[in-house]
Amino acid sequence: MGKGNYLLELLYPPRCAMCGELLDASDEKKCFCDRCRSLWEQAKEESCPNCRRDAQHCVCEPKYNRSRTVDSYRATVLYNNEKIKKLIYKIKTGYDAALYDAMAKELALSVMKYCQTDDNSCLSYPKRSKASVREYGLDHAKKLCYEISKLTNIPVLDVIRHRRGAEQKTLSAGQRGENAAQSYYIRDNDKIKVKDKRIIFIDDVVTTGATTVVCAALCKAAGAKGFYVISIARTP
Ligand SMILES: [Zn+2]
Ligand SMILES: [Zn+2]
Repeated sequence: MGKGNYLLELLYPPRCAMCGELLDASDEKKCFCDRCRSLWEQAKEESCPNCRRDAQHCVCEPKYNRSRTVDSYRATVLYNNEKIKKLIYKIKTGYDAALYDAMAKELALSVMKYCQTDDNSCLSYPKRSKASVREYGLDHAKKLCYEISKLTNIPVLDVIRHRRGAEQKTLSAGQRGENAAQSYYIRDNDKIKVKDKRIIFIDDVVTTGATTVVCAALCKAAGAKGFYVISIARTP
């Protein structure tokens, strides 16, 4: 361990991303304590109350995807308990190398397992608003997307942009759809880059599906052949 790391760990000792318990500093790569690691593994097995399948195989369509603009949704866990909610909050609000590393690995596995990839495949993500990037210091989906790209060798197509507007989290389901429709866009001269692509869209949580459907519609209008969502969690 370098001296810099040592000093950093004195100031910010590694803590479990779910419960906050101090972790053994010698194990730099760990993001969960043993108890939370098994909670995480259990969460992956938990079944959706509607379709009775686990999050990876849940076949429920999010509210906004009635016209099947998004071709498929795959999540690692259900967004259904305080521990998972806390974990997602942690991902959204700051960078933790061990946690991002672990989540990128989970998502990369889902990509390889559930998305048929070829030369036209690329990764994308919903760009975070400038206000949120200022507030939290990072664009979390972008960061994950680029880490997954390194693990899978699938390139990132960075063309979905965010317009100034209200944040999704503060809105009701009805408002979310309308707001998402106005929040994202692809520049005219970027549209050609999207033609014939199969977009693997990386997101943290899928709730109503408003963001994913809007981004899928933008990509498909620009000629994308497919749009597949891979998220950490989804609301059952
Ligand atoms: Zn823990
Ligand atoms: Zn389901």
